[in-house]
Amino acid sequence: MNNQGFLSHNHGSVTHTSCDDNHSHQCLDITGPAVVTVEGSHIHYSESFVMYEYGHTHYYKSASSPAIPLPNGYHTHNWDFYTSYDAAHRHHVSGLDMPAPNS
Ligand SMILES: [Zn+2]
Ligand SMILES: [Zn+2]
Repeated sequence: MNNQGFLSHNHGSVTHTSCDDNHSHQCLDITGPAVVTVEGSHIHYSESFVMYEYGHTHYYKSASSPAIPLPNGYHTHNWDFYTSYDAAHRHHVSGLDMPAPNS
């Protein structure tokens, strides 16, 4: 594993927001590239909109947890954030990304 290789990946995820105001939205996300942290791990930023459903959408911009090691040279990240307020409510999004190789 070298720094160059470690930086050249991102993660995808398919999840749902929390249920608020009697609905949830699909959240299909692709993160930005890896950003090395001072602790020697890396994080990803992501900025997008949840699916436009029930007459509105929500914006979000968040940073992931540091890398969580997995077997076979893969890792994932945890996400935990709130969307913007739209239509008088917001949603919570949490969960793990799809695994990506470390290099
Ligand atoms: Zn909503
Ligand atoms: Zn990563």
